[in-house]
Amino acid sequence: MDLYEHQARQLFADHGIAVPDAEVVDDPSAVHAAAERLGGRVVVKAQVKVGGRGKAGGVKVAEDPAAAVVTARRILGMDIKGHPVRTVMLAQPVDIGEEFYAGYVLDRAAGTFLAIASAEGGMDIEEVAATRPEAVARIHVDPAEGVSEAVAARIAVAASLPPETAPVLQALWQVLTAEDALLVEVNPLVRTTDGRILALDGKVTLDDNAAFRQPRRDADSVDPHGDPLEAAAADKGLNYVRLDGEVGIIGNGAGLVMSTLDVVAGCGARPANFLDIGGGASARVMADGLTVILSDPAVKSVFVNVFGGITACDAVADGIVQALDSVHLTKPLVVRLDGNNAARGRAILDGRAHPMVQQVTTMDGAADRAARLAQGGH
Ligand code: GDP
Ligand code: MN
Repeated sequence: MDLYEHQARQLFADHGIAVPDAEVVDDPSAVHAAAERLGGRVVVKAQVKVGGRGKAGGVKVAEDPAAAVVTARRILGMDIKGHPVRTVMLAQPVDIGEEFYAGYVLDRAAGTFLAIASAEGGMDIEEVAATRPEAVARIHVDPAEGVSEAVAARIAVAASLPPETAPVLQALWQVLTAEDALLVEVNPLVRTTDGRILALDGKVTLDDNAAFRQPRRDADSVDPHGDPLEAAAADKGLNYVRLDGEVGIIGNGAGLVMSTLDVVAGCGARPANFLDIGGGASARVMADGLTVILSDPAVKSVFVNVFGGITACDAVADGIVQALDSVHLTKPLVVRLDGNNAARGRAILDGRAHPMVQQVTTMDGAADRAARLAQGGH
């Protein structure tokens, strides 16, 4: 899960990284007082989970509280790369001397962590990385050793960062490990004209698989603007991602679900979601999955694509039949069962003879049927 800047900033502060004072506001009527509390002159920053806010006009300095209100109103009306701005952060402006880049990321290919740092941070870091890769230091960090003083000093030297940044590099490693993050990034990390080292922006991606051992997370990081269907699915323990199409998708196995999305798209329709019900495919999981998908008003048809393996098709068919007893099926359901015990599974569904359920034996055929049903055909 990606965090908003203001959430990342809080984690940085918790681990001893200096950040400017700031307040988060979602209502323009609260901006004036917040700006006054911060000293009048503020930076107004869009809170969206996407980079490049500065270039998109989502980061602006306001000279006084009245100007902050005007600026906040304008930024709160923005859409940055498809992300509507619903909150802004007001931060005390600082006089930037130099802008650096510092971060750690899980390097899956190398099976370890990678420190990335540059003395040329700021809004053009992507261009720097692309045109002058030698200006960006990349150093693997042994997770067992971590970032000791010596390692931090080595990263700073490799990236030509001033030695005062080394403690921040150590603290940032603490953020990564203590918070179970997959990525932490500060851009810019700045040296102010009066010599302080401050994190002016923050990006953190938390490892959702570690949520069970991060009790703080539930309270701290719930996203009030997150997708309600994804939240409902997460509550039920479903592996669901909402997309913006009209064909609901349920499948077993992430690979099969991914190819189902492709096949549905190939039929000229758009998948409404990713939902992998994995092995097992109990009636409970099937009912929960259908409930979430059917509550998406954009969904016009649902495609259940199952390849029976260890979980045989008859068990899945039993699950579907039981789910049909607890879910009011308001949209047509196309089921394709293949693999282990497919014939038995199909017979079970035929026996149920639900008027909204159709079976098609091939994946392509079923995708085509679901796509046409979504477009109002038969
Ligand atoms: P991003 O574009 O989404 O990465 O947003 P940032 O938070 O990094 O802000 C973009 C740029 O705005 C930074 O690179 C800074 O140059 C500038 N900026 C952000 N906060 C301040 C501030 O407090 N003072 C000054 N002078 N510039 C700032
Ligand atoms: Mn930034």
